[in-house]
Amino acid sequence: MAESPKFSFIVPLYNECEIFPDLKNRLNALMNKIDGTCEVVLVDDGSNDLTPAFMEETGYSDKRYQCVFLSRNFGHQFAVSAGLEFALGDYIMVIDGDLQDPPELFFDFYRKIAEGFDVVYGIRKKRKEGVLKRLAYYLFYRILRGVSSYTIPLDSGDFAMITKRVAKILVKMPEQSRFLRGIRSWVGFRQTGIEYERDARGAGDSKYSLWKLIKLGSDGVFNFSTFPIKLFTVIGIGCICSAVLYFLYTMLRKIIYHDVPAGFPALLFMVILFGGIQLLSIGVIGEYVQRIFLQVKSRPLYIVSKRIENGEEITEF
Ligand code: UDP
Ligand code: MG
Repeated sequence: MAESPKFSFIVPLYNECEIFPDLKNRLNALMNKIDGTCEVVLVDDGSNDLTPAFMEETGYSDKRYQCVFLSRNFGHQFAVSAGLEFALGDYIMVIDGDLQDPPELFFDFYRKIAEGFDVVYGIRKKRKEGVLKRLAYYLFYRILRGVSSYTIPLDSGDFAMITKRVAKILVKMPEQSRFLRGIRSWVGFRQTGIEYERDARGAGDSKYSLWKLIKLGSDGVFNFSTFPIKLFTVIGIGCICSAVLYFLYTMLRKIIYHDVPAGFPALLFMVILFGGIQLLSIGVIGEYVQRIFLQVKSRPLYIVSKRIENGEEITEF
């Protein structure tokens, strides 16, 4: 492409050949309506159906399409990350290949971006998925919000439009266990959400197996919360305190009523006390591991959004 486009659409694809023709039609129709140059970055996440063949054909015949083929299935979060690395647009929109998130929301997203937001994400108001899946999602986002060290927006996935500077920062974050919607919110800047109804899948089945979903969920909780490890410290301290209280209680009873059996209370006291000490020790080790984890994640220490130097504003850095 001669000059870099204004808008990029990133579409991760894993065995989506059934929906591919529809996807292309929807994107083409949308791009024809958009005032400004567009590109689509199709990312094949190691599909083993006809998806790569369809992509090649599209990439060779239509210059607006960029194709990135991963060497195997790395997972949705990594496919989107690859797309972010290669996207050239000033404004980048991430959509799912199964058309569950309507690409036409582009116009609403862009309106917000034009108002000065750097991140506009979709908030799923209604999902057309099974009751169990909906309940699991509902609970997950609320638990995540409850335990997370800072606010991650509720019910929002990777469907979003971001500016180039946010994309550049996300690409530079080398986190292995990626939870994009988390780091996207972590980077800061002005962010807002738009409510929309999530459609049912266009064709085919969900490519997120239960196992992949659990993995994604735990990446969310463990990457953005210290709650699980703090919990052990609290339970440990609780056990030690109750052991001491129990000890005092039995001593008093022994002195006043002389009805305490020999041996048993001492045994119980020791079991609770040492249980507590062990839990507390796990918590203490956890605190160190957590600090190592934070260091290893190598997130930037801070992100500058604007600087003024010599009476001039500097936004590129
Ligand atoms: N996807 C991917 N790699 C995977 C799983 C999914 O690239 O390992 C893609 C998939 O093709 C789709 C998007 O990620 O475009 C969302 O996946 P899916 O619709 O299966 O997830 P769900 O909507 O059920 O959460
Ligand atoms: Mg889907």
